[in-house]
Amino acid sequence: MTDCLFCRIVEGEIPATVVADTDDVLAFRDITPKAPTHVLVIPKAHYANAAELAAADPALAGRLIDVAGTIATSEGVAEDGYRLMFNTGRHGGQEVFHVHLHLLGGTPLGPMLAI
Ligand code: AMP
Ligand code: ZN
Repeated sequence: MTDCLFCRIVEGEIPATVVADTDDVLAFRDITPKAPTHVLVIPKAHYANAAELAAADPALAGRLIDVAGTIATSEGVAEDGYRLMFNTGRHGGQEVFHVHLHLLGGTPLGPMLAI
């Protein structure tokens, strides 16, 4: 049993509201949504962050973005626009150390940063 929360979601040990499920990518709704649409897109394999994923498997990193774009369309936010975000490390605000691409949309998202 792994102690990685998102690996456990991939294994079905922890429930999630899944919006996309491919061979190697899973997308599910964020449990504490920060926008009307807030979906997390993850590789099923464990990588700690976006740079590690891209270094090991750049095509898979690309597929995360592709899945996010498809979900943006199905969620109806593609036309007005949305934000894709990888928080990385302590200063980046990363809380779960299994890479996840945040898809945020459904309302004007305000400034890029609030420091
Ligand atoms: P980050 O701060 O970039 O690491 O983002 C972690 C995200 O995971 C936060 O937005 C949390 O709300 C979300 N999260 C934590 N636990 C769960 C869970 N069990 N299911 C779905 N999302 C979660
Ligand atoms: Zn993991």
